Amino acid sequence: MALPQHIDPRQLSHAYILSAASREEALSAAREIAAAALCSGENPPCGHCRDCRKVAQGIHPDLITVRRLEDDKGKPRQEITVDQIRGMAADAIVLPNEAQRKVYLLPEAETMNLPAQNAALKLLEEPPQGVVFLLCCLNPMQLLPTVRSRCVELSLGGQEQHAEEEELSLARDYLSLLAGRDRMALLRWGFEQERMDGRRAAAFVNAALEESGEILCGRRADPGLGREALFRLRALLSRCADMLRVNTGVKHIFGLLCTTLPQDDRN
Ligand SMILES: [Zn+2]
Repeated sequence: MALPQHIDPRQLSHAYILSAASREEALSAAREIAAAALCSGENPPCGHCRDCRKVAQGIHPDLITVRRLEDDKGKPRQEITVDQIRGMAADAIVLPNEAQRKVYLLPEAETMNLPAQNAALKLLEEPPQGVVFLLCCLNPMQLLPTVRSRCVELSLGGQEQHAEEEELSLARDYLSLLAGRDRMALLRWGFEQERMDGRRAAAFVNAALEESGEILCGRRADPGLGREALFRLRALLSRCADMLRVNTGVKHIFGLLCTTLPQDDRN
């Protein structure tokens, strides 16, 4: 694995979003950037210096990985919490141990919940000197648009992730129907969508993620869902995006999307 294209190791950005079709691919690109940031050799990442070797072995003290914590049974929790991000922010202002800088790696950045993403946003807006944040995900739409706008986005494998107008309009219909809380109307709409192919369904899910993200960031009007419901919806859409990636049937996806009404939390 080489450094992703268009990255100048001498002029690294403070934050990258690395998306790829597989976790491994995103993670291995992130490790290359981490090595480039921490390398003490001539031509970073040289691959030979003490720093590069420690990064490759996963033992560099200035490469800090932030993952979901485990519960009592040793299973990963659902989300990266705001406390974890605050912890990362507090740690990021402490000087590095061995290298010239520090790197924070989030292998599943989209598992940050809403407060966590907002805390991350503050950190990305005013990053401590010399710190690099590497956010890996399968789909950058799963991150809030405000977070994305503070990072350099690298889509490995080059798949274009911007929603088409057609899918976006469908996504707006869907969000309005959800906000209307008319179960029958929503089901009818879902039946009409079931015949679309997997690729289009994935584009629709992406568009719904994009649109809900824009609403959460206040860049578009909320049709009446509320923040909590929107965030729960984004978690569901994220799951659907992952399921479509492993070829789950479109019918099943729309079944899920149209029977799981977001709870009314406005009372
Ligand atoms: Zn090196």
